[in-house]
Amino acid sequence: MRAVRPLCDRCGHREAIHTVRASGENLCGECLFQDVRSKVYSVLDRVLEDGDKVAVALSGGKDSSLTLYMLKEYRENSRLNFELTAITVDEGTPYRRAAIEEASKLTAMLGIEHRIVSMSDYHGVNVAEIRSALPAGWRRSACTYCGVLRRWVINRVARDMGATKVATGHNLDDVLQTHLMNLARGDVPALARSGQAVRSPSPKMVPRIKPLALVREREVAALVLHLGIPASFGKCPLTTGMRVGVRRALDELEISSPGIKEGLVQGIEAIIARIRLSEGIKVELRECRLCGEPTTGELCKACQMKQELEPIVQRALLFGSVARDGSS
Ligand code: SF4
Ligand code: ZN
Repeated sequence: MRAVRPLCDRCGHREAIHTVRASGENLCGECLFQDVRSKVYSVLDRVLEDGDKVAVALSGGKDSSLTLYMLKEYRENSRLNFELTAITVDEGTPYRRAAIEEASKLTAMLGIEHRIVSMSDYHGVNVAEIRSALPAGWRRSACTYCGVLRRWVINRVARDMGATKVATGHNLDDVLQTHLMNLARGDVPALARSGQAVRSPSPKMVPRIKPLALVREREVAALVLHLGIPASFGKCPLTTGMRVGVRRALDELEISSPGIKEGLVQGIEAIIARIRLSEGIKVELRECRLCGEPTTGELCKACQMKQELEPIVQRALLFGSVARDGSS
Protein backbone atom coordinates (compact mmCIF):
# COMPACT_ATOMS: atom_id res chain seq x y z
CA MET A 1 0.00 0.00 0.00
CA ARG A 2 1.28 3.47 -0.93
CA ALA A 3 2.32 5.63 2.03
CA VAL A 4 0.03 8.64 2.54
CA ARG A 5 1.84 11.83 1.69
CA PRO A 6 1.33 15.07 3.62
CA LEU A 7 -0.75 17.81 2.08
CA CYS A 8 0.92 20.80 0.44
CA ASP A 9 1.74 23.51 3.00
CA ARG A 10 0.93 26.25 0.48
CA CYS A 11 -2.37 25.30 -1.14
CA GLY A 12 -3.44 22.95 1.66
CA HIS A 13 -5.40 20.58 -0.58
CA ARG A 14 -3.06 18.67 -2.93
CA GLU A 15 -0.66 15.90 -1.93
CA ALA A 16 2.92 17.11 -1.48
CA ILE A 17 5.59 15.68 -3.82
CA HIS A 18 8.58 17.59 -2.50
CA THR A 19 9.97 18.90 0.79
CA VAL A 20 12.05 22.09 0.69
CA ARG A 21 15.17 21.25 2.73
CA ALA A 22 15.88 24.78 3.93
CA SER A 23 12.40 25.41 5.36
CA GLY A 24 10.90 21.94 5.76
CA GLU A 25 7.92 23.11 3.69
CA ASN A 26 5.98 20.41 1.80
CA LEU A 27 4.92 21.35 -1.73
CA CYS A 28 2.57 19.77 -4.28
CA GLY A 29 3.62 19.66 -7.94
CA GLU A 30 1.66 22.77 -8.90
CA CYS A 31 3.03 24.89 -6.01
CA LEU A 32 6.57 23.62 -6.72
CA PHE A 33 6.10 24.65 -10.35
CA GLN A 34 4.98 28.16 -9.29
CA ASP A 35 7.97 28.41 -6.96
CA VAL A 36 10.48 27.32 -9.61
CA ARG A 37 8.79 29.49 -12.20
CA SER A 38 9.16 32.64 -10.11
CA LYS A 39 12.89 31.88 -9.57
CA VAL A 40 13.47 31.21 -13.28
CA TYR A 41 11.48 34.27 -14.38
CA SER A 42 13.43 36.51 -11.98
CA VAL A 43 16.62 35.44 -13.78
CA LEU A 44 15.19 35.65 -17.31
CA ASP A 45 13.65 39.11 -16.68
CA ARG A 46 17.19 40.32 -15.96
CA VAL A 47 19.20 38.58 -18.65
CA LEU A 48 17.04 38.36 -21.79
CA GLU A 49 16.55 41.17 -24.28
CA ASP A 50 14.06 41.72 -27.06
CA GLY A 51 15.30 40.12 -30.29
CA ASP A 52 17.59 37.61 -28.57
CA LYS A 53 18.21 34.25 -30.16
CA VAL A 54 18.72 31.79 -27.32
CA ALA A 55 20.46 28.48 -28.00
CA VAL A 56 19.92 25.97 -25.20
CA ALA A 57 22.84 23.59 -24.64
CA LEU A 58 20.56 20.56 -24.39
CA SER A 59 22.30 17.44 -23.10
CA GLY A 60 19.07 15.47 -22.68
CA GLY A 61 19.58 15.39 -18.89
CA LYS A 62 16.98 16.73 -16.45
CA ASP A 63 18.56 20.17 -15.94
CA SER A 64 18.94 21.30 -19.54
CA SER A 65 15.58 19.72 -20.42
CA LEU A 66 13.83 21.78 -17.73
CA THR A 67 15.78 24.85 -18.91
CA LEU A 68 14.38 24.47 -22.44
CA TYR A 69 10.87 23.77 -21.13
CA MET A 70 10.89 26.86 -18.87
CA LEU A 71 12.31 29.10 -21.61
CA LYS A 72 9.51 28.03 -23.96
CA GLU A 73 6.97 28.65 -21.19
CA TYR A 74 8.51 32.07 -20.43
CA ARG A 75 8.39 33.01 -24.10
CA GLU A 76 4.66 32.29 -24.18
CA ASN A 77 4.04 34.58 -21.18
CA SER A 78 6.58 37.31 -21.78
CA ARG A 79 6.39 40.58 -23.67
CA LEU A 80 9.84 39.83 -25.02
CA ASN A 81 10.23 38.57 -28.52
CA PHE A 82 13.02 36.03 -28.73
CA GLU A 83 13.93 32.92 -30.69
CA LEU A 84 14.68 29.56 -29.13
CA THR A 85 16.80 26.72 -30.50
CA ALA A 86 18.60 23.74 -28.98
CA ILE A 87 22.07 22.31 -29.55
CA THR A 88 23.14 18.84 -28.43
CA VAL A 89 26.76 17.71 -28.56
CA ASP A 90 27.25 13.97 -29.00
CA GLU A 91 30.47 13.12 -27.14
CA GLY A 92 30.30 9.54 -28.37
CA THR A 93 29.43 7.77 -25.10
CA PRO A 94 26.63 5.18 -24.76
CA TYR A 95 25.25 7.36 -21.94
CA ARG A 96 24.82 10.31 -24.32
CA ARG A 97 23.07 8.16 -26.94
CA ALA A 98 20.19 7.50 -24.52
CA ALA A 99 20.08 11.16 -23.47
CA ILE A 100 19.95 12.33 -27.11
CA GLU A 101 16.81 10.26 -27.65
CA GLU A 102 15.14 12.10 -24.76
CA ALA A 103 16.38 15.45 -26.08
CA SER A 104 14.89 14.71 -29.51
CA LYS A 105 11.55 13.73 -27.95
CA LEU A 106 11.48 16.99 -25.98
CA THR A 107 12.32 19.29 -28.91
CA ALA A 108 9.72 17.51 -31.07
CA MET A 109 7.14 17.90 -28.29
CA LEU A 110 7.89 21.63 -27.90
CA GLY A 111 8.38 22.32 -31.63
CA ILE A 112 11.91 23.68 -31.15
CA GLU A 113 14.63 23.61 -33.83
CA HIS A 114 17.25 21.10 -32.66
CA ARG A 115 20.79 20.70 -33.96
CA ILE A 116 22.70 17.56 -32.92
CA VAL A 117 26.43 17.81 -33.60
CA SER A 118 29.19 15.36 -32.98
CA MET A 119 32.32 16.21 -31.03
CA SER A 120 34.49 14.30 -33.47
CA ASP A 121 33.22 16.33 -36.45
CA TYR A 122 34.73 19.43 -34.85
CA HIS A 123 37.76 18.02 -33.05
CA GLY A 124 38.55 14.74 -34.83
CA VAL A 125 38.19 12.80 -31.57
CA ASN A 126 35.44 12.02 -29.07
CA VAL A 127 35.41 11.36 -25.34
CA ALA A 128 34.89 7.59 -25.71
CA GLU A 129 38.09 7.34 -27.72
CA ILE A 130 39.98 9.66 -25.37
CA ARG A 131 38.95 7.54 -22.44
CA SER A 132 40.12 4.28 -23.94
CA ALA A 133 43.41 5.78 -25.17
CA LEU A 134 44.48 7.57 -21.94
CA PRO A 135 47.31 5.72 -20.17
CA ALA A 136 46.57 4.56 -16.61
CA GLY A 137 47.33 7.28 -14.05
CA TRP A 138 47.38 10.08 -16.68
CA ARG A 139 47.28 13.54 -15.09
CA ARG A 140 43.97 14.56 -16.68
CA SER A 141 40.72 12.60 -16.87
CA ALA A 142 38.64 12.09 -20.00
CA CYS A 143 36.02 14.29 -18.30
CA THR A 144 38.43 17.26 -18.15
CA TYR A 145 39.12 17.02 -21.90
CA CYS A 146 35.43 16.53 -22.61
CA GLY A 147 34.34 19.64 -20.69
CA VAL A 148 36.72 21.92 -22.61
CA LEU A 149 36.11 20.36 -26.05
CA ARG A 150 32.33 20.40 -25.57
CA ARG A 151 32.22 24.06 -24.48
CA TRP A 152 34.26 24.95 -27.58
CA VAL A 153 31.72 23.16 -29.85
CA ILE A 154 28.70 24.76 -28.20
CA ASN A 155 30.12 28.26 -28.56
CA ARG A 156 31.10 27.65 -32.19
CA VAL A 157 27.77 26.10 -33.22
CA ALA A 158 25.71 28.69 -31.30
CA ARG A 159 27.63 31.52 -32.97
CA ASP A 160 27.22 29.93 -36.42
CA MET A 161 23.47 29.70 -35.78
CA GLY A 162 23.39 33.43 -34.95
CA ALA A 163 22.65 32.89 -31.25
CA THR A 164 23.00 35.92 -28.98
CA LYS A 165 22.85 33.86 -25.74
CA VAL A 166 23.65 30.27 -24.80
CA ALA A 167 21.44 28.90 -22.01
CA THR A 168 22.92 26.11 -19.91
CA GLY A 169 21.17 23.84 -17.41
CA HIS A 170 23.37 24.76 -14.42
CA ASN A 171 21.29 24.66 -11.24
CA LEU A 172 22.05 26.22 -7.85
CA ASP A 173 24.09 23.18 -6.73
CA ASP A 174 26.23 23.31 -9.91
CA VAL A 175 26.77 27.07 -9.58
CA LEU A 176 27.89 26.71 -5.97
CA GLN A 177 30.23 23.80 -6.76
CA THR A 178 31.84 25.85 -9.55
CA HIS A 179 32.29 28.89 -7.27
CA LEU A 180 33.96 26.76 -4.60
CA MET A 181 36.23 25.06 -7.13
CA ASN A 182 37.30 28.45 -8.52
CA LEU A 183 37.94 29.66 -4.95
CA ALA A 184 39.96 26.54 -4.14
CA ARG A 185 42.11 27.14 -7.24
CA GLY A 186 42.41 30.85 -6.48
CA ASP A 187 41.06 31.51 -9.98
CA VAL A 188 39.71 35.03 -9.46
CA PRO A 189 39.28 35.80 -13.22
CA ALA A 190 37.08 32.68 -13.58
CA LEU A 191 35.03 33.78 -10.56
CA ALA A 192 34.57 37.24 -12.07
CA ARG A 193 33.41 35.74 -15.38
CA SER A 194 30.97 33.31 -13.78
CA GLY A 195 27.85 35.48 -13.58
CA GLN A 196 24.85 35.66 -15.90
CA ALA A 197 25.21 36.97 -19.48
CA VAL A 198 28.68 38.34 -18.79
CA ARG A 199 29.91 39.94 -22.01
CA SER A 200 33.31 38.84 -23.14
CA PRO A 201 35.67 41.38 -24.72
CA SER A 202 35.48 39.10 -27.79
CA PRO A 203 32.32 39.14 -29.94
CA LYS A 204 33.16 35.52 -30.80
CA MET A 205 32.16 34.38 -27.29
CA VAL A 206 28.38 34.01 -27.02
CA PRO A 207 27.27 35.22 -23.54
CA ARG A 208 25.95 32.42 -21.31
CA ILE A 209 22.87 32.44 -19.13
CA LYS A 210 21.81 29.98 -16.42
CA PRO A 211 18.01 30.14 -16.03
CA LEU A 212 18.05 27.51 -13.22
CA ALA A 213 20.76 29.23 -11.15
CA LEU A 214 18.37 29.77 -8.21
CA VAL A 215 16.79 26.30 -8.38
CA ARG A 216 18.17 23.36 -6.41
CA GLU A 217 18.97 20.08 -8.11
CA ARG A 218 16.36 18.21 -6.03
CA GLU A 219 13.69 20.70 -7.09
CA VAL A 220 14.66 20.23 -10.74
CA ALA A 221 14.36 16.45 -10.46
CA ALA A 222 10.99 16.57 -8.67
CA LEU A 223 9.56 19.05 -11.18
CA VAL A 224 10.77 17.20 -14.27
CA LEU A 225 9.07 14.04 -12.97
CA HIS A 226 5.90 15.93 -12.06
CA LEU A 227 5.64 17.61 -15.48
CA GLY A 228 6.53 14.40 -17.34
CA ILE A 229 9.27 16.19 -19.32
CA PRO A 230 11.29 13.72 -21.45
CA ALA A 231 14.74 13.65 -19.83
CA SER A 232 17.48 11.23 -18.93
CA PHE A 233 18.11 10.82 -15.19
CA GLY A 234 21.36 8.89 -15.58
CA LYS A 235 24.66 10.46 -14.57
CA CYS A 236 27.57 10.39 -16.97
CA PRO A 237 29.76 7.57 -15.60
CA LEU A 238 32.91 9.48 -16.60
CA THR A 239 32.33 12.34 -14.13
CA THR A 240 35.52 12.76 -12.14
CA GLY A 241 37.61 15.40 -10.47
CA MET A 242 37.20 17.91 -7.69
CA ARG A 243 33.50 18.46 -8.40
CA VAL A 244 32.55 15.01 -7.09
CA GLY A 245 34.15 15.66 -3.67
CA VAL A 246 32.85 19.25 -3.41
CA ARG A 247 29.35 18.05 -4.21
CA ARG A 248 29.48 15.37 -1.51
CA ALA A 249 30.87 17.79 1.09
CA LEU A 250 28.15 20.37 0.38
CA ASP A 251 25.39 17.76 0.63
CA GLU A 252 26.74 16.68 4.03
CA LEU A 253 26.97 20.29 5.21
CA GLU A 254 23.40 20.90 4.12
CA ILE A 255 22.15 18.11 6.40
CA SER A 256 23.43 19.86 9.53
CA SER A 257 22.82 23.41 8.22
CA PRO A 258 19.73 23.49 5.97
CA GLY A 259 19.78 26.50 3.65
CA ILE A 260 23.55 26.89 3.71
CA LYS A 261 23.80 26.39 -0.07
CA GLU A 262 21.72 29.49 -0.82
CA GLY A 263 23.68 31.41 1.83
CA LEU A 264 27.01 30.45 0.30
CA VAL A 265 25.91 31.32 -3.25
CA GLN A 266 24.65 34.74 -2.12
CA GLY A 267 27.82 35.42 -0.11
CA ILE A 268 30.18 34.42 -2.92
CA GLU A 269 28.18 36.37 -5.49
CA ALA A 270 28.35 39.49 -3.32
CA ILE A 271 32.14 39.11 -3.40
CA ILE A 272 32.08 38.60 -7.18
CA ALA A 273 30.03 41.78 -7.59
CA ARG A 274 32.70 43.67 -5.61
CA ILE A 275 35.46 42.22 -7.77
CA ARG A 276 33.66 43.34 -10.93
CA LEU A 277 33.00 46.81 -9.52
CA SER A 278 36.63 47.24 -8.63
CA GLU A 279 37.45 46.60 -12.33
CA GLY A 280 40.52 44.85 -11.07
CA ILE A 281 40.27 42.15 -13.71
CA LYS A 282 40.72 43.10 -17.33
CA VAL A 283 41.38 40.32 -19.78
CA GLU A 284 42.88 40.91 -23.18
CA LEU A 285 41.60 38.34 -25.65
CA ARG A 286 43.15 37.42 -28.98
CA GLU A 287 42.48 34.71 -31.53
CA CYS A 288 43.88 31.22 -31.12
CA ARG A 289 46.67 30.66 -33.63
CA LEU A 290 45.23 27.27 -34.62
CA CYS A 291 41.43 27.52 -34.51
CA GLY A 292 40.75 31.28 -34.38
CA GLU A 293 38.62 31.09 -31.22
CA PRO A 294 39.12 33.71 -28.47
CA THR A 295 41.86 33.01 -25.96
CA THR A 296 44.10 34.85 -23.52
CA GLY A 297 47.25 33.10 -24.74
CA GLU A 298 48.58 32.02 -28.10
CA LEU A 299 46.52 28.80 -28.13
CA CYS A 300 43.05 28.21 -26.71
CA LYS A 301 42.54 25.49 -24.10
CA ALA A 302 40.86 23.15 -26.60
CA CYS A 303 43.81 23.33 -29.01
CA GLN A 304 46.31 22.86 -26.15
CA MET A 305 44.40 19.75 -25.11
CA LYS A 306 44.28 18.40 -28.66
CA GLN A 307 48.03 18.88 -29.01
CA GLU A 308 48.42 16.90 -25.80
CA LEU A 309 46.07 14.18 -27.10
CA GLU A 310 47.58 13.68 -30.56
CA PRO A 311 50.47 11.46 -29.41
CA ILE A 312 48.06 9.55 -27.18
CA VAL A 313 45.48 8.75 -29.87
CA GLN A 314 48.31 8.52 -32.41
CA ARG A 315 46.83 10.57 -35.21
CA ALA A 316 46.27 14.14 -36.32
CA LEU A 317 43.23 15.89 -34.85
CA LEU A 318 41.19 18.79 -36.28
CA PHE A 319 42.40 22.30 -35.51
CA GLY A 320 41.10 24.31 -38.47
CA SER A 321 37.96 26.37 -38.62
CA VAL A 322 36.02 23.90 -40.80
CA ALA A 323 34.13 21.04 -39.20
CA ARG A 324 34.03 17.64 -40.87
CA ASP A 325 30.35 18.09 -41.57
CA GLY A 326 31.30 21.07 -43.75
CA SER A 327 30.02 23.91 -41.54
CA SER A 328 32.48 26.70 -40.94
FE1 SF4 B 1 31.81 14.94 -20.58
FE2 SF4 B 1 32.52 14.86 -17.99
FE3 SF4 B 1 30.12 15.80 -18.71
FE4 SF4 B 1 30.64 13.19 -18.92
S1 SF4 B 1 30.55 14.42 -17.02
S2 SF4 B 1 29.64 14.49 -20.48
S3 SF4 B 1 32.77 13.23 -19.50
S4 SF4 B 1 32.11 16.72 -19.21
ZN1 ZN C 1 42.18 26.93 -30.57
